[in-house]
Amino acid sequence: MATQEFAGAVTAVFWNIDTCPVPRGFDARRVFPCMKRYLEKLGYTGPLTMKVFGTLKDTPADHLEAVSSTGFLLYVDPFGSGSNSLLGYMSLWRAHNPPPANFMVITHSTDHVAPIDLSRLQGWRYNVVTPYPLGRPASSTNAWESFLLAESRALEKENDYSIQTVESSWVCEVCCSVTGRGFDNFTTHMSSKEHAYWKSTYLPIAQDEYEEEEEEEEEEDEDEDEDEDEDEDEDEDEEEEDEDEDEEEEEEEEEEEDEEEEEEEEEEACESSHLLL
Ligand SMILES: [Zn+2]
Repeated sequence: MATQEFAGAVTAVFWNIDTCPVPRGFDARRVFPCMKRYLEKLGYTGPLTMKVFGTLKDTPADHLEAVSSTGFLLYVDPFGSGSNSLLGYMSLWRAHNPPPANFMVITHSTDHVAPIDLSRLQGWRYNVVTPYPLGRPASSTNAWESFLLAESRALEKENDYSIQTVESSWVCEVCCSVTGRGFDNFTTHMSSKEHAYWKSTYLPIAQDEYEEEEEEEEEEDEDEDEDEDEDEDEDEDEEEEDEDEDEEEEEEEEEEEDEEEEEEEEEEACESSHLLL
């Protein structure tokens, strides 16, 4: 049961749908009320946010539509479903959610050896809620299904099976945290050229920006050629010209360094935007 400190605190659910898919034959719209009931039963009644994440490549579209239209915020994760990815998310979430706070994790280890080490997530005045031990894949999958079926049966018994629908919200971490609303927009985004580009490269800057920069450089080169033609007519200026060229070369080197720094900064900006707030 929730202690007094944590009972009214903010709670976030992180559900990895790659490793814990909706069980065959289970109505995906029921996952949200099942998790909500479980948390309320334990006394967690504070503000609740539910997030479902994964590469989503093996998740049927109707499952994604069902879970997002019942209240889960949909996250497309470019890094797969390893425990390190989850730990990274949790660290970022904690940075933006001061204690006391609760989080519930639904996942299991994908490395087939080690269970998810949630002790690394538990910190000062943060409370980790797990409906079952996050052990090795086979046992966890059974535990996940058992958990859902038990909560689902309880809701039916209590005659409290109201399924509320909302507009789907999603974040594409593949595309540097592009956000959107509406499931149709989500499917359009997932089949867009932009998404395909980021998925294939994960480059820190977009291809069209890249091309614009290259065009600008070509124009600069042409200007320099014209300057040199004028200088050739004036022999006295030759030495000066050499110095100018040296300076230009130095400036170009500096520009290249600046560009590299900018690329690094953009990459960092992309990484730091992987927030599951
Ligand atoms: Zn995308």
